[in-house]
Amino acid sequence: MNESLEANLANVGDRYGAEMISFCQRLVQTPSLPGQEGDVARLVALEMEGLGYDEVRSDSWGNVVGLLRGQGTGRSVMFNGHMDHVDPGNAREWPYPPYGGEIHDGRLWGRGAADMKGPLAAMIHAGGILAREGRRPPGDLYVAAVVQEEVGGLGTQKLLQTVRADLAVVGEASSNQLARGHRGRIELVARVRGRSVHASVPHEGVNPHAVLARFVQRLETLDLAQDVTFGASTVAPTLYLTDQQSSNVLPGEARLHLDWRNIPGETPEEVLSQLRPLLDECVAEVEGSAGELVLHTHDLCTYTGQSESLPAVFPSFGLEADHPLVRNGQRILASALSRPVDVVIWRFATDGGHLMAAGVPTIGFGPAEAHLLHTVGENVPVEMLVEGLMGYTALALELGRGH
Ligand SMILES: [Zn+2]
Repeated sequence: MNESLEANLANVGDRYGAEMISFCQRLVQTPSLPGQEGDVARLVALEMEGLGYDEVRSDSWGNVVGLLRGQGTGRSVMFNGHMDHVDPGNAREWPYPPYGGEIHDGRLWGRGAADMKGPLAAMIHAGGILAREGRRPPGDLYVAAVVQEEVGGLGTQKLLQTVRADLAVVGEASSNQLARGHRGRIELVARVRGRSVHASVPHEGVNPHAVLARFVQRLETLDLAQDVTFGASTVAPTLYLTDQQSSNVLPGEARLHLDWRNIPGETPEEVLSQLRPLLDECVAEVEGSAGELVLHTHDLCTYTGQSESLPAVFPSFGLEADHPLVRNGQRILASALSRPVDVVIWRFATDGGHLMAAGVPTIGFGPAEAHLLHTVGENVPVEMLVEGLMGYTALALELGRGH
């Protein structure tokens, strides 16, 4: 094939699709919750070595990076995909076993199939196609399989301290369209202290629920920032915790977690300064209570034994619709896939925010459907994966060229 690889991308699916699908099945069959990615990381490293990557290394945080050296004429590109996945929940609610990786009705089923072992398998094999066809990308191509994306993006943040690329492609679900940004995610905690007493005499204590009940209602009065492209910032109360195990005690402390999705330009500091006066008002109305609003921190431990505390902040990002990387990516994909490629905005947050925050222009392209992520029916269409393999192969061959 060689020189005609670009001209015959359709053959890539016929020739290499089946083994990529089989690799994806093995990835899904290997559970890898955040902090427990070791088995999948070994599988990924072995696969990259077998496919003929020039170099395969793991860092101390457990990220695995395969390198294909470029011709030295273009820019370096990072394909970025995460190895961890969210909890499958109750296996009985699944149509097929969550770690089965079974194929039914043209779809590959299981936890992580769409988010994002399918796209990850396609990225890894796209690099493998170049290696086996004896083709070099214009600049170095890094295929990075990272840890702990689902708990805030520790893997990518640490990876960027040692591996730099000029451009990046994040493989989160885009139905093989091109994504150019998303809102950020900021997790906050409203912590309210009252005074704990026997539940038979609540008037003798100070009720922290009374403060947080007011606070939840007043969230609806916030004037949330708006953006033409990204929509509005949103806030959702999520977890509610107290310092009590007993149901006949008025707790002394209650904590409410907030999931805030911020439009580009809205900083965590701005979010805090919007929320703090609201909480202060509610505290003032309940005599004897005290409260504070803070950014939540994740205490994380990697499968390699490293630990770190990180604020739960996924930065937003947005490349302009006419940014050269967006235009170039769209052109390459439309030509490779022989169809129009839409430019979309992701609803959810990704490691793309960390890449952009580190100064690496990033686009998204992922063979999976966003509405299936984190569901008990998670699956990925096999045909979409094979088309994704063609898309990544084309991006690997051309994205680093010029510009
Ligand atoms: Zn994901």
